[in-house]
Amino acid sequence: MPTTAAPTPQAPKYVYDFSEGHKDLKDLLGGKGANLAEMTNLGLPVPPGFTISTDACRAYLAAGRAPDGLDAQVGDYLAALETRMGRKLGDPEDPLLVSVRSGAKFSMPGMMETVLNIGLSDASVSGLAAKAGDERFAWDSYRRLIQMFGKTVLDIDGEHFEEALEASKRAKNVATDVELDAADLSVLVDSYKAIVREQSGRDFPQDPREQMDLAIRAVFDSWNTERAMLYRRQERIPHDLGTAVNIVAMVFGNLGPASPDAISNSGTGVAFTRDPATGHSGVYGDYLPNAQGEDVVAGIRNTLSLTELENLDKTSYDELMRIMSVLESHYRDLCDIEFTIERGKLWMLQTRVGKRTAAAAFLIASNLVDEEVITPDEALDRVNGNQLAQLMFPQFDLSGTPKRIAKGMNASPGAAVGRAVFDSYTAIKWSRSGERVILIRRETNPDDLGGMIAAQGILTSRGGKTSHAAVVARGMGKTCVCGAEELDVDTKARRLTAPAGVVIEEGDLVSIDGSSGAIYAGEVPVMPSPVVEYFEGRLGPDSSHADELVRAVHRIMTWADEKRALYVRANADTPDDAARARRFGAQGIGLCRTEHMFLGERRTLVERLILAEDDSERRKVLAELLPMQRDDFVGILTAMGGLPVTVRLLDPPLHEFLPDLTELSVRVAVAEARGEEHENDLRLLQAVHKLHEANPMLGLRGVRLGLVVPGLFIMQVRAIAEAAAQVAKAGGVARVEIMVPLVGAVQELEIIRDEARSVLDEVTETTGADIRALIGTMIELPRAALTAGQIAEAAEFFSFGTNDLTQTTWGFSRDDVEAAFFSAYLDRGIFGVSPFETLDRDGVGRLVSVAAEEGRAARPGLKLGVCGEHGGDPDSVHFFHDVGLDYVSCSPFRVPVARLEAARAAVNNPRA
Ligand code: PEP
Ligand code: MG
Repeated sequence: MPTTAAPTPQAPKYVYDFSEGHKDLKDLLGGKGANLAEMTNLGLPVPPGFTISTDACRAYLAAGRAPDGLDAQVGDYLAALETRMGRKLGDPEDPLLVSVRSGAKFSMPGMMETVLNIGLSDASVSGLAAKAGDERFAWDSYRRLIQMFGKTVLDIDGEHFEEALEASKRAKNVATDVELDAADLSVLVDSYKAIVREQSGRDFPQDPREQMDLAIRAVFDSWNTERAMLYRRQERIPHDLGTAVNIVAMVFGNLGPASPDAISNSGTGVAFTRDPATGHSGVYGDYLPNAQGEDVVAGIRNTLSLTELENLDKTSYDELMRIMSVLESHYRDLCDIEFTIERGKLWMLQTRVGKRTAAAAFLIASNLVDEEVITPDEALDRVNGNQLAQLMFPQFDLSGTPKRIAKGMNASPGAAVGRAVFDSYTAIKWSRSGERVILIRRETNPDDLGGMIAAQGILTSRGGKTSHAAVVARGMGKTCVCGAEELDVDTKARRLTAPAGVVIEEGDLVSIDGSSGAIYAGEVPVMPSPVVEYFEGRLGPDSSHADELVRAVHRIMTWADEKRALYVRANADTPDDAARARRFGAQGIGLCRTEHMFLGERRTLVERLILAEDDSERRKVLAELLPMQRDDFVGILTAMGGLPVTVRLLDPPLHEFLPDLTELSVRVAVAEARGEEHENDLRLLQAVHKLHEANPMLGLRGVRLGLVVPGLFIMQVRAIAEAAAQVAKAGGVARVEIMVPLVGAVQELEIIRDEARSVLDEVTETTGADIRALIGTMIELPRAALTAGQIAEAAEFFSFGTNDLTQTTWGFSRDDVEAAFFSAYLDRGIFGVSPFETLDRDGVGRLVSVAAEEGRAARPGLKLGVCGEHGGDPDSVHFFHDVGLDYVSCSPFRVPVARLEAARAAVNNPRA
């Protein structure tokens, strides 16, 4: 560490030697820098170097120039590095070379990655050749520098360099770069320098410090490239983090053997301490002899496996194995690493806790507990609800190795098969005649909505994970692959062309995998997820058919249920859904919507009820509805076997129960023109006109409907009470919670509560059954949240209806906005994710916490839950845990996700 590099009194410290950092300083040093520091301090062979902090990047981006003091600090640390290495940067006799590597807190494609061999110039290339005793190596390093520098720092299209390299190989009649000799490479360097001059209007800089400074600036600037910003939006990475820059002394994997006939004892590779695809134990990696930097992943030559490395260079291999095991025990997780071997000496260039598939995440977490490396609580923290959700989608059975024609972005998971259609109209028409279709578009817009609903899946060739197609498909839970740029979609000719000339015409079968982004020609068989089979109870974790993944999921879910503080209920309104919810682990029903019970044949009864002109007609209709409703509730209460069931009184806008205004008007007009009898229709039309609303979602619905249609809610309460009594009589237990929707004022609730109580008392008395019923309300209007203290006086429980609460807080019509303009909002960064998907903590969340707090202050122990869609969203579940709700309720399929996330929330923030 340099002694002269203390920050000047005015300038903060911007530069850190690797020995000064550690793995928990990712905010300051970026992921790469923090982990290089950690490995250095573990005594592992890391080439010396230093990190320029994210503070420096933020200061640079804010001011548009390097902050005061940065250049001097870099100079001091460079001088210290030179002293330590006994060589000076770019020295003509014996040059020190460095790499300049970006490293943000989160690894981010789209940013400048790396420039290697900084310090080489016309003057120092021969010095390097002499010192290494290898002229070819020196020229190869120089041409790599100009190529990388040209591409990433000077923004020159890489094609130009590729073409020059190809031309050079052609001239020599060889297939790979390693067959070019020193003379060929020195000619290539001249061509590269000419490309730089032509394309950038300047000469390749010969001053080593200028090379380094330009590269550092290029890393800073790359934070704000369009691709990087897009990636951050998609992955919800904040834009204000900035990136660090690492300056590392070069070690050389492209340093050939001393004798040209010997097998190369230099090379570079990547490795994982476990298999990141399956999670299986055992090392896994690729090695490329006589290569540098990105050659391994760039696919320029075929790589070798680690076993082949063992045969080639046993000493380095053994050392690599030793270090991998050190890293795994130190990080206590799967690590991925980059390494280089320079003439038989192994160097570590990078490590991090490695990315992995959803299946691997579960298996590794479970295995690490068995290996006594982590605790069950830590295992819960190593997986997440989105990964679990991924494991629950049906999957393609790839055992028949189907033909993959292209790959796009995995925008919305699932496996969909259907006939290719290229417009919304055809999608709707074909699906009506029973055909499964995949809607294929360049990109979608709101006009495609009908087709998207009709299709099994959606495929686009343009647009990212926040494109219209992606946002809407995710909202609908529909499989979507977007941005498959390799595809040429010709909607006029109704065909798509994939690489290698594969053509899919309208009507051809295609299969798309929304979890991986793969696109296949033809029909790939779909199989149910074994994890769902397990949750359904059809696959026992101990059965011989259960694989290791199912067993890992089972163990982790068992730990999750022991850990969580939140109860998890389901939104279900049929006995079948209720039964499934229980199998998936629901501890009750948090929302039984009753509106579906009034559709179909029963709709006309409601129509008659609304239009009834006198009490006797109204009473007649209600008497017909009562037994039907009672049977509905008996079914659900029985399926739930004594677990609590929250029944919500009728909520939807009136018009859903009335004939369509336009249709009715036409009918009346036609009858009039023909002189036919139309007395009834006319009466109906007048009534419908009277009840017509411009904004039905803000109109006569919820408790308002209950207050103006006499007898409606009372009939429902009676049906609930009689059903509970019937279940109790049959020896069961019925626990009901009667929920009043869309309350904005306590007075509304008080009226309904008093009426409901007297019905409950009456049924208790006449049946003699012990009916356990709570009466509570939804909190789904801002006014309700803000007057929760008053409302709690009349409510035995609150359930937050975060769908309506989001709609009314933002003033967003939930049925319209996602398709209409959310993709534009996401693109412009107004929010990173739809507030209907993940709770808007700052706005809607604030109302929830105010209401929770004031409700409980007025009525200690008030039961609090949530039943909006957010109840099954991972991030939102953490919020609900943190504000102290008792339960979340979500669709049956999301119940396992909520169970897991509730446990993870409890691990991160234990409740007193
Ligand atoms: C809600 O508004 O969050 C809710 C659960 O009710 P619905 O979605 O039925 O309006
Ligand atoms: Mg609602």
